[in-house]
Amino acid sequence: MNYFSSDFKLGILGGGQLGKMLLAETRKFDIQTYILDPSAEAPSRFGATKFFIGNLMNYDTVYEFGKKVDALTIEIENVNLEALDQLEAEGLNVYPSPKTLRLIQNKGTQKDFYVKNNIPTSKFERFQDLENLKSSVTSSAVDMPFVWKCAQFGYDGNGVKIVRTATDLENLPNVECIAEEVVPFKNELAVIVARSVSGEVKTYPVVEMEFHPEANQVEYVICPARIDEKVAQKAIEVGLKVSEAFNHVGLLAVEMFQTHDDEIVVNEVAPRPHNSGHYSIEASYTSQFENHLRAILNLPLGNTASKVAGIMVNLVGEEGYSGNVVYENIEKIMAIDGVTPHIYGKRETRPFRKMGHVTIVNEDMNEARRIAEEVKKTIRVISVQ
Ligand code: ADP
Repeated sequence: MNYFSSDFKLGILGGGQLGKMLLAETRKFDIQTYILDPSAEAPSRFGATKFFIGNLMNYDTVYEFGKKVDALTIEIENVNLEALDQLEAEGLNVYPSPKTLRLIQNKGTQKDFYVKNNIPTSKFERFQDLENLKSSVTSSAVDMPFVWKCAQFGYDGNGVKIVRTATDLENLPNVECIAEEVVPFKNELAVIVARSVSGEVKTYPVVEMEFHPEANQVEYVICPARIDEKVAQKAIEVGLKVSEAFNHVGLLAVEMFQTHDDEIVVNEVAPRPHNSGHYSIEASYTSQFENHLRAILNLPLGNTASKVAGIMVNLVGEEGYSGNVVYENIEKIMAIDGVTPHIYGKRETRPFRKMGHVTIVNEDMNEARRIAEEVKKTIRVISVQ
């Protein structure tokens, strides 16, 4: 198949920032792209060959979109799977496959899959609704504290709560959920695995999420993780095992916990480019977005090694500001060597909305970490007063 400067069209379901960054790569290769997103303001509205507005959960909308393209991928998991099943049955290459997406869309099903495939994960119970969970707590079948997760449609931590008291339990929404044992972890790690249609596999180095000591929010994604080589090796092995179990095609980001006795426990996966791999645009020989494309088009995978140390800082809307966004002090951070901001293209900021990220690269990890802190302190995502 000739993808380059041809009539071939890649369809992408979802037009958020991940789609936007993927489009930088399709532009590089001169591959045509069609994007479907519900919002006319989606970050990917400019870079695609054609941009379609429509509901990603609607069967007809997704099916008809799929009929216009020669291969289909996603940048968000919550899409209509029946339409993808039908498109696949009619011969369209859909990566990741609807089968994989079905296993991942529901956190309960995803956890069952890990157990079935002998992949280490924290203990959990599945519940159809809040009443069921409450009765298990009352009968002491589930002990507090535990981590409550809504089974479907949670995103960026909004479907996750630590339940410590009866009041916490009362405040939960009445939806299908899981109750997980709280893992006392030393580090949160992630491994991105790229796997092509023909089975070529490469892994990116292990990354580490560094948390703010008080706010308990991820502040920095650091590559390579500052961990023991043996632990890194174990994390990579677990990542590969997960990717094989799913028979995954494309990128699979495997989020993990490193426990205090250096065991690796899988938290969850994302079957697509991931926030934990954004550093790769500047720091790696081949970015995660380029390798996602290579994998789903069955092209040789690019080198996943890093050229330099990379740290990513998310740019989220500051509390107390809503409205037209201003990136205060962006010139100041751009004056520092090795600092590159990525602006996702959302005109309106809201508290905690993901508006962009900044990558810091440096030959020296300690220097990169120092600059990352300076960046974090300097730039502010606020609104026009
Ligand atoms: P989301 O899909 O919203 O990203 P995650 O499952 O990744 O949700 O959970 C969000 C965060 O909550 C994790 O990054 C981690 O810090 C914390 N967390 C999740 N599960 C557990 C657990 N079993 N034990 C301790 N902390 C957890």
